[in-house]
Amino acid sequence: MEKHPFGGTGVEVPVLGQGTWRMEDDDRASAIRALRAGLDLGMTHVDTAELYGHGKVEETLVSEAIAGRRDEVFLVSKVMPSNATYAGTLAACERSLKRLRTDRLDCYLLHWPGPHPLEDTVRAFEKLVKDGKIRSWGVSNFGVEELEEALALAGPGRIACNQVLYHLEERAIEHGVLPWCEAHGVAVVGYSPFGSGNFPRPDSRGGKVLGAIARAHGVSPYQVALRFLVRRPSLFAIPKASREAHLRDNAAAASLKLSSEELARLDAAFPLGLEPAELPVT
Ligand code: NAP
Repeated sequence: MEKHPFGGTGVEVPVLGQGTWRMEDDDRASAIRALRAGLDLGMTHVDTAELYGHGKVEETLVSEAIAGRRDEVFLVSKVMPSNATYAGTLAACERSLKRLRTDRLDCYLLHWPGPHPLEDTVRAFEKLVKDGKIRSWGVSNFGVEELEEALALAGPGRIACNQVLYHLEERAIEHGVLPWCEAHGVAVVGYSPFGSGNFPRPDSRGGKVLGAIARAHGVSPYQVALRFLVRRPSLFAIPKASREAHLRDNAAAASLKLSSEELARLDAAFPLGLEPAELPVT
């Protein structure tokens, strides 16, 4: 699996990882099988959050999937903004570690900008790094202004990533967030790469282009989409798949090569659109 440096962490992370949102609603055995198959195939970036299933995803799915193979995994979890005071962040991290049955996270994110001073959350993140509870920290759903605030508080090289909504029909990050992150060495982790199951229909304008490129390579339109979404070294994607067939399809996207002409056709078929006033979220 192709890997790229993850922000300033000094760690190389696979360009395709695994999401876990709403996995608690799926067949548990199938989801764990898919997560473990993903690790076998090198999709070792596993994304979860205390929010998911109110802790159930960490406790009953991810912990089980990574049991006995923690060292292979780049494990990411997120603190709820409502918990992100200084003491609240420290406590939330402890709870996640316990549920995940591990002693450290590879990256810990603020799930979205919230009501508590960012300064306090950043201070807690740095304390967790110092104590060896987390290897790095980042943010999620941050626009440029919020990133500027985080940078001013933390200094350069501290924000590992910004996890943001990014799929073919939602490319708003390309206006400001992606260039900002590239300029400051912050990894951009695109979430909901298939629009949370709302994938372009085969008979839509973009769907037809996706289908034609997929047929030319003998791959699925989902694989073409993933490859487009990680076409720059700063970009990572975390598709969620509770079915092993989906997981295998996604993993194989890492070895797909799209020509610059194909990338240009996709770019035209899924236009960027105007810059929205606020960063879109799922
Ligand atoms: P997604 O990855 O865009 O789409 C998941 C859906 O696509 C599931 O229904 C899945 O089916 C299906 N699927 C997966 N691979 C497929 C394939 N190769 N062919 C056909 N269908 C396929 O949805 P998401 O869960 O919204 O986003 C991914 C992850 O991003 C989340 O799980 C979460 O970890 C993260 N996320 C973060 C935030 C944030 O605020 N930071 C917000 C949303 C999501 P099966 O599951 O049945 O296999």
